[in-house]
Parts: sequence; structure tokens; C-alpha cells
Amino acid sequence: MTMYDFPCEYCTGTVRECIVDLEPIKHHRGIVVLEEVPIGVCDRCGAHYYAAPIMRRVESILTSGSPPDRTIQVPVERYRKAV
Ligand SMILES: [Zn+2]
Repeated sequence: MTMYDFPCEYCTGTVRECIVDLEPIKHHRGIVVLEEVPIGVCDRCGAHYYAAPIMRRVESILTSGSPPDRTIQVPVERYRKAV
């Protein structure tokens, strides 16, 4: 039973379940990187989708409901520098 297999919102493709090694997921509270996570990927345009249980896990980690396996530092850079 897959959490996906629905039409893409952006094109005529279908969103298929795909287990990815590492996926950074943005949430209004922050960003969490999930490993070996089943996400939805459009078979036509490649758009990524996250099912509700995935977002619940992200939220739980960001609100300290469940501590993450580990924490990494991520570099941040402003692409366009002020002149
Ligand atoms: Zn698509």
C-alpha cells in the first residue's frame, strides 16, 4: 500500500513512491533531513511530494517530540551579494 500514486499538481504525470537516501524537507518551523524516506516523485516533472506521516515526523522532530538520530551543520550563503 503506497502513500502516493496520485496525479501531479503541476503536470499530467503521476506521483510515485520513491525511497530516497537523503531528503531535506522544509517545514514552517525549520528544515529536517530524513534518510531512507518514502517520498512521492512525479514520473514526468520530478516534483517532490511528502505524505502526511512524513510531515508529522518532521514536525515531531522540530517540536522536540522525538529527538533526531543526529544533527548536522548546513552551510548557508546569500547567492546575490549586496554591492
Ligand atoms: Zn509533475
